[in-house]
Amino acid sequence: MEQESKSKVAIIGGGPAGCMCAYYLQEKFNVTVFDKNSPLRTLLPTGAGRCNLAHAEYDFRELARNYPRGEKFLFSVFSKFSTSDTVEFFENIGVETYVQPDMRIFPVSNSAKDVREKFLASLNKVRFIKEEVLKIDEAFSVDTNKGIYNADFVIISTGGHSSFNLIKNLGHNIIAPKPALTGLRTKEDFSSLAGVSINGLLFTHKGISGPEVYTISSIKARDSFPYKLDFDFIGEVDFQSALNSNSHKSIKNLLSDYVPKSLGEFVLQQLKINPDEKCHKINGAMRDEILNKLRHFGVTVIGTVPDGEVVTSGGVDLKEINPKTMESKLVKGIYFCGEVMDIDGLCGGFNLQNCWSTAYVAAQAILDNVFSF
Ligand SMILES: Cc1cc2nc3c(=O)[nH]c(=O)nc-3n(C[C@H](O)[C@H](O)[C@H](O)COP(=O)(O)OP(=O)(O)OC[C@H]3O[C@@H](n4cnc5c(N)ncnc54)[C@H](O)[C@@H]3O)c2cc1C
Repeated sequence: MEQESKSKVAIIGGGPAGCMCAYYLQEKFNVTVFDKNSPLRTLLPTGAGRCNLAHAEYDFRELARNYPRGEKFLFSVFSKFSTSDTVEFFENIGVETYVQPDMRIFPVSNSAKDVREKFLASLNKVRFIKEEVLKIDEAFSVDTNKGIYNADFVIISTGGHSSFNLIKNLGHNIIAPKPALTGLRTKEDFSSLAGVSINGLLFTHKGISGPEVYTISSIKARDSFPYKLDFDFIGEVDFQSALNSNSHKSIKNLLSDYVPKSLGEFVLQQLKINPDEKCHKINGAMRDEILNKLRHFGVTVIGTVPDGEVVTSGGVDLKEINPKTMESKLVKGIYFCGEVMDIDGLCGGFNLQNCWSTAYVAAQAILDNVFSF
């Protein structure tokens, strides 16, 4: 009987964001999570199966700086629910965490599967329906591929990869989704360097990848192709002194003191300098050419290559969402959270933090809506 009198919340999308919302609402509402797949399935590949669930940055303004899209919007969100709240939430559901030296936070179990199981077990009052939501009609009717359900509140947490039409039908503007945190396809052929890495850049058969490149792909996610990048592989060095004191060494062997050997040879070949040339034969012009190439290693980016975390830059226009509540400014009673919004962060636990925090704020706003006087 008590269950019947509770307001109904429909959560569309049972990923990390939708399930977090469900957790905070399940006591006081009749909560249904609709997912066309199994709930929290998208948690499994995170952190390469280890689930990098947050980042040990406890100052919410600093934390927000790690979001190329969403920084300002997240100020008030993170002021309500931030890194320490995430850690506490996971402790409460039985997931102990630890911080890696690079500040990424992982479960002690190092297992996304374990996090998923504990999280699902904590959602014991939530009803899960494995159906695809096709349409949301006013006040609210949730139409799926199998039925029609009523709800008093609707939370849309469909992630960054699908279902934008559902949201457009409600009148919302979608910022065109583009992949971020990806590898990059280059005009130059680096296949002879595939597997070579330097300063967080990894050469691949199709272009470049690695942590540094994921960050670049995120920052430049909205740029149109082609665009140019310029890498400095050696910084300030006294190369002339090195040439002088290694006069009988080959130039390729000297370069291997600064960069991976195959990269040095690649650069020498591009400059048409014999890699076996002795250092005393390298004149001033050749020296400057080598230095210039290693300080300004030019790359022309012509596209992205799915690789790594891969999040979506783009989604529901933040201008149409109230950052204090996550409620749509266009349709009262509709809330958004997670990657479906035009928010995306760098690698390191920031994208899941966006899910936890925005989900908490949405849930709290619905609780306040019904229970505060
Ligand atoms: C390989 C990989 C590794 C990652 N690793 C990390 C990491 O370690 N740390 C980190 O912070 N971030 C990581 N991320 C990013 C992070 O996983 C996402 O940002 C996060 O999953 C987004 O959560 P979400 O709940 O917003 O959306 P999603 O996880 O995409 O969940 C959306 C859910 O909605 C369902 N759905 C969509 N449309 C409908 C519909 N119409 N009807 C019913 N159901 C629907 C989908 O089936 C899905 O289950 C990684 C991403 C990838 C791809």
